[in-house]
Amino acid sequence: MSDPGPLVLVVEDEPQVRRFLRAALSSRGYRLLEAATAREAEQLATGHLPDLLLLDLGLPDRDGLELTRSLRGWTRAPIIVLSARGREEDKVQALDAGADDYLTKPFGVNELLARIRVALRHARQLPAEGPVLEVGPLRVDLARREVAVEGREVRLTPTEFKLLELLARNAGRVLTHAHILREIWGPGSTQAHLVRVHMAELRRKIEPDPARPRLVLTEVGVGYRLRDEPGPPGDPPG
Ligand code: CA
Repeated sequence: MSDPGPLVLVVEDEPQVRRFLRAALSSRGYRLLEAATAREAEQLATGHLPDLLLLDLGLPDRDGLELTRSLRGWTRAPIIVLSARGREEDKVQALDAGADDYLTKPFGVNELLARIRVALRHARQLPAEGPVLEVGPLRVDLARREVAVEGREVRLTPTEFKLLELLARNAGRVLTHAHILREIWGPGSTQAHLVRVHMAELRRKIEPDPARPRLVLTEVGVGYRLRDEPGPPGDPPG
């Protein structure tokens, strides 16, 4: 018999969305728990210790952000937030509250499965990280501080290198502008434009076509994500 699949807790009050998630996940070997309220979610999460949570932000009994914060207080299981289109502020707040990623409704099955794979992979990989990070065509040698794209060496400034290292360590996950600013320029930094300026320079050096980034994707109104699975070109740079 094969290992049981990862246990996913779906927290969503809309029956159609739950049905969609159930169909998408159970056929791929994931085991599912379902909660329609924050209260049920906390009971199931504490009782069953799921490997990953899919969490709708608009719940009937409690704010999804508050639930995220509360869950993050005791579990390291990845939390992927499901949010309504156009609520960039919600996404930023959810990531800052401890969510690992978000999906904007409506989303497709492939996108959902890709994000879940990334989140579970990160959850497993956290402790062991070698001196070389390889993400798609990118190779980041942390010990030698060398970067190559498709085998071609790229020379980065120290700031660009730190930026790429941060993205590569979090490949597949979205990092908010505030998170990047804090990690690279320190907790007190308020100069948000620095992220944009250095990101543009980094893209100019590593992207085959900086006008249509394929490696560092813009998450409009939220931040940036280093793509770690192949796919079509992303949005224009922002
Ligand atoms: Ca809802």
